[in-house]
Amino acid sequence: IGGAKPIATRTRTTCGYCGVGCSLEVLTRDGEVAAVLPDRDGPLNRGHACVKGRFAHGFLHSPERLTRPLLRRGGRLEPVSWAEALDHVARGLRDAIAAGGPDAVAAISSARATNEENYLIQKFMRVAIGTNNVDNCSRLCHAPSAAGLTAAFGLSGGTDSFDDVEKADCLLVVGANPVEAHPVVGARLLQRVLRGSRLIVADPRSVGLARHADVHLRPRPGTNVALFHGLAHVLLTEDLVDAEFLRHRADGLAELTALLADYPPERVAAVTGVPVGELVAAARLYGRAEQPAIVYGLGVTEHLHGTDGVRALANLAILRGAVGTDHGFGVNPLRGQNNVQGASDMGALPDLLPGYGKVIDPAARVRAETVWGVPVPDRPGLRIPEMFAAAREGTLRALWVIGEDVCATDPDATRVAEALEACPLVVCNELFLSETAQRADVVLPVASWLEKDGTFVNFDRRFQRVRPALDPPGQARTDFAAVHALAAVLGVDLGCRTSAAALAECGRLAPIFGGLSHERLDREGAIPWPCQDPGHPGEAKLYRKRFATPDGLAHLSACPYLPPGETPDDDYPLILVTGRRWAHYNSGSMTRHTGNIRLDPVDRLDLHPADAARHGLHDGDPVTVESRHGRAALTARVSDETAPGQVFCAFHFPSSGVNTLTSDRADTVTSCPEYKVTAVRLRPLA
Ligand code: SF4
Repeated sequence: IGGAKPIATRTRTTCGYCGVGCSLEVLTRDGEVAAVLPDRDGPLNRGHACVKGRFAHGFLHSPERLTRPLLRRGGRLEPVSWAEALDHVARGLRDAIAAGGPDAVAAISSARATNEENYLIQKFMRVAIGTNNVDNCSRLCHAPSAAGLTAAFGLSGGTDSFDDVEKADCLLVVGANPVEAHPVVGARLLQRVLRGSRLIVADPRSVGLARHADVHLRPRPGTNVALFHGLAHVLLTEDLVDAEFLRHRADGLAELTALLADYPPERVAAVTGVPVGELVAAARLYGRAEQPAIVYGLGVTEHLHGTDGVRALANLAILRGAVGTDHGFGVNPLRGQNNVQGASDMGALPDLLPGYGKVIDPAARVRAETVWGVPVPDRPGLRIPEMFAAAREGTLRALWVIGEDVCATDPDATRVAEALEACPLVVCNELFLSETAQRADVVLPVASWLEKDGTFVNFDRRFQRVRPALDPPGQARTDFAAVHALAAVLGVDLGCRTSAAALAECGRLAPIFGGLSHERLDREGAIPWPCQDPGHPGEAKLYRKRFATPDGLAHLSACPYLPPGETPDDDYPLILVTGRRWAHYNSGSMTRHTGNIRLDPVDRLDLHPADAARHGLHDGDPVTVESRHGRAALTARVSDETAPGQVFCAFHFPSSGVNTLTSDRADTVTSCPEYKVTAVRLRPLA
């Protein structure tokens, strides 16, 4: 590593890829990264890191990196100064407000940005613009977790620390492939299984941990709620429940018991395709374990009834008394992006303020207004899909997209592009000229996670420090600096000039973060929220005394199973599920601009050998995938990892057009897209 020249600096920071939150040591020399080493003392990674955290930093110095602001003139994006770019944005914002009021402006904040940046962005929208039209990309992944976990337990985070989850004697892993999507967690879970924990995997695909499972349940995509009710039915009928817990700490048992009468294993098997014997075996494993834990991913949330899925899954832990007690380790979502938990924690949401106070709650607004000194709008703002609809209808006149390639990652991408075309002002903060940036009126070049100061919150609610190992290139600035600069052009002083001051201010209006500060995190390392005061260690395990619901009880949910938005038919006989591959990260803007492109150079379509034979496809053949919404060009990969009648692909290469296939159907509670169920057909490119 050292080479001829000594390493100039070592910077300890937190990985900016997935939500595990590995602690990394970044070695730099002559303004470049010489190496990234996993931190031996990292609380989550303990000296390990995956291919993305360790090696996917080449994008920093890519010649395609944006280093100057760009302004659209005569249909072309041209380099301009920051002053010129911001003047144009400010003029556009004023025009939008003059035409349609503050609600004619919206911002999409970012799970890639720090907490402090997310705090500042939502403050900008509420204070400088006067609207609640701010959302973040948790809308596309774990919004149903926030809604479902809050309904069941009272708070939107996972219930237990991963250190505890790892002690479970039975792991129920649902709709997640952590071996690829959260590799360090996947490795720790696998180690736990190899040391003796029982493992139930519920996932349509036979990948990763499924190969090591005691029971692998393979439900048809879109049938989770029926599956979870089937498991709950067995827990109840075989008396594998914690009656004491249900009597004193839970509510809703009578309603759920009545509902579950309609979910005997035979009926559930018919709906889900999971054999009765496997369903009963899984329920008995979970029901008889002394300390079970549930870990789940986007296979639970990204459905038409994703929030119902989270609530039905939470039912299992409540029935077993395995949450808020010593009898188990609760229900734990694996957050996808590095700071998707934090972006929501900081109030970059249209209905919630920092710390999850509701904008419709006068007391929560007063807390914010006392700190900010201006009135907070009391009407919830637009969610991301509603922003696009409003742009198409002409009522949204300015959209600021921060660090999200919505034209590549959001569903029904053709309609998203139409929305951006229709919106008079689109501003985009980006590292590269993404699909979205190419359609923007102004592109602001910004810093990456290796060039920022602040904090991220990982999937088990730990605040961790992020520190800059390098300066941003050229004229690129942090999102934090860009928001302050635009506010200044509008004549608004947002206060909190530093990242540390922003977190401190957030703690003043959001009690659950009141004990956190950069200085304390520097001294003590990772601290989980809730953390009410500077002497509080943070609550790694939630709900020991009471649940955070108004009545202090855990709430069972009697939500019926409802079918997915699309099912296979003669025209579109296959079901497409999308997800991630190990070497890439979401739209791939960072991993495609680094060495990982050699590890995984194209988007592949996984399909079962029987389906491949029926379509005359072989490994490596080009294939066109068509849905009712669009068409994508992929490369076939024949594998029995995917069940017959189903196909799987990732969305790391925008040029393949995967998200033109997905529909704009979304979770009925949170508007999270139904990415996991799209009816498609295949056409070989002969
Ligand atoms: Fe980064 Fe996630 Fe890999 Fe850890 S597991 S190094 S957080 S991408």
